[in-house]
Amino acid sequence: MKTISIIAACTGLFMLAACGTGASDGNDTAAGAGEVNLYTARHYDSDQALYDRFTAETGIRINLIEGRPDELIARIRSEGERSPADLFLAADAGALWRAQQAGLFQPVQSEALNAAIPANLREPGGHWTGFMRRARIVAYDSQRVQPEEVDSYEKLASPRFRGKVCVRSSDSVYNLSLLGALIEAWGEERAEQWARGIVANMARPPEGGDRDQIRAVAAGVCEVAITNSYYYIRMANGDDAGDREITQRVRLAFPSLDGQGAHVNISGGGVLARAPNRDNAVRLLEFFASADSQRHISANNNEFPASPGVAAPEPVAAHADFTAHPMSVAAFAARQPQAQSIMSRVGWR
Ligand code: FE
Repeated sequence: MKTISIIAACTGLFMLAACGTGASDGNDTAAGAGEVNLYTARHYDSDQALYDRFTAETGIRINLIEGRPDELIARIRSEGERSPADLFLAADAGALWRAQQAGLFQPVQSEALNAAIPANLREPGGHWTGFMRRARIVAYDSQRVQPEEVDSYEKLASPRFRGKVCVRSSDSVYNLSLLGALIEAWGEERAEQWARGIVANMARPPEGGDRDQIRAVAAGVCEVAITNSYYYIRMANGDDAGDREITQRVRLAFPSLDGQGAHVNISGGGVLARAPNRDNAVRLLEFFASADSQRHISANNNEFPASPGVAAPEPVAAHADFTAHPMSVAAFAARQPQAQSIMSRVGWR
């Protein structure tokens, strides 16, 4: 298997044409099961074991191109009609929506995907689908904050938390998707009020990733942090003794949106419009959505399975009993441009 990080291998759009590709167009494929060219913005080492298992089960070789979502989208666009890309994976519905907006995906009708994945976690036209879930929720200082003070997203923006909130920057697609969900639920005006409240409540200008926000709660910089669920679960169960200790005091809460549950995002993928190995791409996407793959990813990356029938393994199981908002991921993903404008207007850096 060939792996190329395009961050390292290709710097800048103009280099892309000259940049060697790890993927091939299928024409030089030896007879047999063939190959599939996977462009992935998922950045988890444990995915490699899945790729190996897929190849062992199907004989289909995976050529892997890794990069940040927007870089991969730009690359596929610049490759144009000759793009070897078959399947694009990303760890946020917003990134998948951007790829769809760029016209990169083809609709796929798959009984296996329809059966495995709830409709609200799939793009209605079949252009992309989730196969794992991640909740964007709250980690709070249990010595200073009562659980009922963080049981809704609304409360995070209230004066109770003036100067007490840690959250990463508006560059993060995770935040754009969360704000997109609030726009979808409340309308733009009220969502903007919320974003203003969050900016007013920030303990410091946004810096670092979600884990840094959780650590800042433990350090007394803030009382609550907005974070994706898997970062916390990983810290609570990982190798770092300091991080494990932090999660004794810093607890996880699942705020509810309009009493309907926590904001849930996805890891997912879509088949490229010009995929040279289309059938293999569908097969690989169905493989990711299989119960075994969901269990593997949950155990290793601490995301929640997307299928209601797939039980989360430990340590995720301890946090899996929450109500997820039933909102369509495609609905909030499409609100990103509005979310971006609101964040600029309210000064969310
Ligand atoms: Fe992440």
